[in-house]
Amino acid sequence: MGEFELIRRHFQHALRPAGVALGNGDDCALLAPTAGQQLAVSTDMLVEGRHFLPTVPPEALGHKALAVNLSDLAAMGAQPLAFTLALALPRADDAWLKAFARGLLALADAHGCALVGGDTTAGPLNLCLTVFGQVPPGQALRRDAAQDGDDLYVSGTLGDARLALEAFRGEWAAAVALDGPVWTRVRHRLERPTPRVALGQALRGVAHACADVSDGLLGDLGHILAASRLGAEVWVDTLLASDAVSPAVRALPLAQALTCVLAGGDDYELVFSAPPAARAAVTRAAQRSGTPVTRIGRFTGRAPARAHLCHADGARFELPAGLALSGFDHFA
Ligand code: ADP
Ligand code: MG
Repeated sequence: MGEFELIRRHFQHALRPAGVALGNGDDCALLAPTAGQQLAVSTDMLVEGRHFLPTVPPEALGHKALAVNLSDLAAMGAQPLAFTLALALPRADDAWLKAFARGLLALADAHGCALVGGDTTAGPLNLCLTVFGQVPPGQALRRDAAQDGDDLYVSGTLGDARLALEAFRGEWAAAVALDGPVWTRVRHRLERPTPRVALGQALRGVAHACADVSDGLLGDLGHILAASRLGAEVWVDTLLASDAVSPAVRALPLAQALTCVLAGGDDYELVFSAPPAARAAVTRAAQRSGTPVTRIGRFTGRAPARAHLCHADGARFELPAGLALSGFDHFA
């Protein structure tokens, strides 16, 4: 199977939404966003051994490669239009490609996001996707838009993906002992994350600032705090007791639970700010998008760019001795 046969067989996407005038096969694809809307553009690269284990099923890898990119559109409140796929492959394995494309294009179809181009080459397995979405001018959920006194929210659940990763690595006795439906669920959260695309769009005009949680809550919240020049209280015991933490994570020893929830990574949830006056609107956005959200703190003008771990009454939450939490940084 040659390069062009490979592309024709696996990466010819039938989906042709209104925002795509020409898909792949020519020198460029042509996008036709709704008149007056802004294009939202984001790229994410996935490298074997860094972002996924060599053993990951190809269908799950296809899903995840697009999911992490759609998550960036979600965090901006953008509607997905199209994406490109740059792919380096050690060999043209037809069964592997078929399963990979199935996972990739099923998620693309579910979000009306068309594969419109890419590049295919031989080399160590590496995937680089660029997504294009659209958002009305002035309505994107930017990281610099949080305001003093805003509530702090998170969507879905935090920490399950990290728990699954530690189980795969053979770390943590409680993680290694996971089995049955609990293991299936946390593994699913690592390998097949759900981008919160509908919630992101429902939060336009409701939330102020928003980011997706890819590198751990404290790391990604930290980006909002730095951009907005604010601090935030994170009510740690409220968070641990809430529906934002699954029973499997809550059952871990405290230091491990805190690592998963506050610095886990790979959650692909949304962390966002909204004024207290918008609480009913946040609840409606959550209901409309079928995505639970939990209020876990508030933004303050004190101590800019720092997240303060505290109890709901504002008293300082002491981390277990020796536990250091930070967002993931490839070069740290
Ligand atoms: P060029 O020589 O201009 O780089 P290519 O020969 O690499 O173009 O690709 C031919 C066509 O196939 C282009 O339209 C390109 O967008 C598309 N294509 C290449 N790889 C992929 C891929 N992995 N998925 C989707 N389309 C692809
Ligand atoms: Mg090319």
